[in-house]
Amino acid sequence: MDLSVVIPVYNEATGLTELRRRLTETLEKDQISFEVIMVDDGSQDDSRKLMVEFHQTDERFRALFLSRNFGHQIAITAGMMHASGDTVAIMDADLQDPPEAIPTFVKKLREGYDVVYGVRRKRKEHIFKRLAYYVFYRLLAKLSDYPIPLDSGDFCLMTRRMVDHLNRMPEKHRYLRGLRAWSGFMQTGIEYERESRYSGKSKYTVTKLFNLALDGLISFSAIPVRLIIQFGFLTALTSFVIGV
Ligand code: UDP
Ligand code: MG
Repeated sequence: MDLSVVIPVYNEATGLTELRRRLTETLEKDQISFEVIMVDDGSQDDSRKLMVEFHQTDERFRALFLSRNFGHQIAITAGMMHASGDTVAIMDADLQDPPEAIPTFVKKLREGYDVVYGVRRKRKEHIFKRLAYYVFYRLLAKLSDYPIPLDSGDFCLMTRRMVDHLNRMPEKHRYLRGLRAWSGFMQTGIEYERESRYSGKSKYTVTKLFNLALDGLISFSAIPVRLIIQFGFLTALTSFVIGV
């Protein structure tokens, strides 16, 4: 099989059928043999039902059910561990990552890369969210001990050997786009237009997004830990002086 597409799903029932349609159409047109692994991250809506239905009508669509909501990164990880394609694509379920970009990624990967990731040309989200993303990615790039590409998310295509490496990494708090960059494997970005969600609302709460950002910053830079240590010393010193 040429390609496994891993898709984390959390309460995305309203968009899944359209996602399936666009994916199938695109990949069949390019004669790519594929499987789609949708990973349900503890949805409470009809996502699970739809995923079973997809599998019953088309065996290329596989479904993985997590026992509860573990979060986006863990859902992707679970999917990657079950993927058997020669290459593996990761994309969101809300059609913000256009399936039509995958054939372009495939062509680019053939040039000898291990990772081709999407770079967002434009975001169509609220100005505050866009600003927060803008600042975060630049802060991460500045602090990180390894170069992490700007404005690229998890949307990507990877070779089998890259995926095998990621699967062997034991990290529990995973910031995949960071681990991907850290690996040092040959990678390149391709720009794409980031659409707004096809339907429904973002499943990333502010807390979840904040935690993801924190995982990114803490995992890829020693600076936050150093700041904490310095703050600790300062507090101890101040307490001592006040004590005296
Ligand atoms: N998602 C998930 N678990 C979660 C939150 C989100 O599997 O706890 C999935 C979600 O269904 C989508 C992807 O992760 O496929 C990205 O989430 P979302 O589109 O809500 O995030 P945003 O694009 O707003 O940052
Ligand atoms: Mg989204």
